[in-house]
Amino acid sequence: MNKKLTLFILGLLLAAGIAFITKGNFSKQTVSDKLQITASFYPMYFFASQIGGDKVQVYNITPASAEPHDYEPTTQDIARISRSNLVVLNGGKLEAWGDKIKDQLKGTNVLIVTAGQGLADRQLSENGNNIQDPHVWQNPLLAKKQVEAIEKGFEKIDPQDTMYFQANASKLYGELDQLDSEFKQGLSSCQKKDFVTSHAAFGYLATQYGINQVAISGVSPDQEPSSQKLAEITDLVKKQDIKIIFFESLVSPKLSQTIAQETGAQTMVLDPIEGLTQEDLNLGRNYLTVMRDNLSALQAALQCNK
Ligand code: ZN
Repeated sequence: MNKKLTLFILGLLLAAGIAFITKGNFSKQTVSDKLQITASFYPMYFFASQIGGDKVQVYNITPASAEPHDYEPTTQDIARISRSNLVVLNGGKLEAWGDKIKDQLKGTNVLIVTAGQGLADRQLSENGNNIQDPHVWQNPLLAKKQVEAIEKGFEKIDPQDTMYFQANASKLYGELDQLDSEFKQGLSSCQKKDFVTSHAAFGYLATQYGINQVAISGVSPDQEPSSQKLAEITDLVKKQDIKIIFFESLVSPKLSQTIAQETGAQTMVLDPIEGLTQEDLNLGRNYLTVMRDNLSALQAALQCNK
C-alpha cells in the first residue's frame, strides 16, 4: 500500500513537473513564434499591425513624437532590424537611412518591403532640385496599395498563414475604401480649393480629391522657406481670404502662426500622420481616426458643404 502510494505521489510529481516544463516551453515558444516585424514609422507600423494581427510583433523605429524625415536609427534599432523577419519601409527617400539599411541587409534572411515603391511618382522642385515626394500614405487609395505590398511580404515570410493575412488585409481595404468615399464626398462641394500647410505632405491627397496644397516648408519639414516665398503665401492668403492656416503637431507651428497673425487667419492642425504623439496613442487615435480629423479640418478650411 505504502509502496503504491509512494509511486502514486511520485507519478503526480512527475506529471506536474512535465506540465510545468511544457507550459514553460510553450509560453516561451508563443512569444518567440511571433514574426518579428520592424516598421520605419507610424503608418507602416499601423498597416503591418493590422495585417499581421496576433501572428506578429511589430516595432516602430521612429519613436512617438519624432519626425521620420530626420530620424536616425540607434544602434539598438539597427540590431533589431537585423533580427527581424521583415522590415517595412515607405521608400521615396522618406527614410534617410533606407538605402543604407538595404545595403547592410544584403545577403541576410531579412526581407525588406518598400511599400511605396512605384507609387511615389510626384516630384517637387526645391531650390532648383527635383525632389521625390514620399507622402503616398496620405491618399487612401495609394495606402491600399501599400497594404497590399506589406501583405504580400507577410505571405513570403509565413506562407502557412496566407489566408489569415489576406483576410486582415481585406478588412483594411474596406476601411480605406470607406475613407476614400468620405473624402470624395466631403470635399466635393467646397468654396475654396487652396489650403496652406506646414510642410508639403498632402500632395497625393490633394491630387486625388481635386484640391490644392500650398506648403510653407518643403517636402521635408526642415526645408525652410525663403522670405520671398513667405511673402507670396501671405499675399495669396489675403487675396483668397483664406481663414485657416494649418500646422502640424510634430514640428514648430511658428511659421504658420506668423502667416496667420499677418493675415488675421486662425491656425488649426492638419496631421501628415508621420508619427502620433504619446497623447494620441493614449487616446486610442490611429491612422483612420486622424485621417477623419484631417477631413474635418480640410472641410473647415475649404468651406465645404457637409
Ligand atoms: Zn513629410
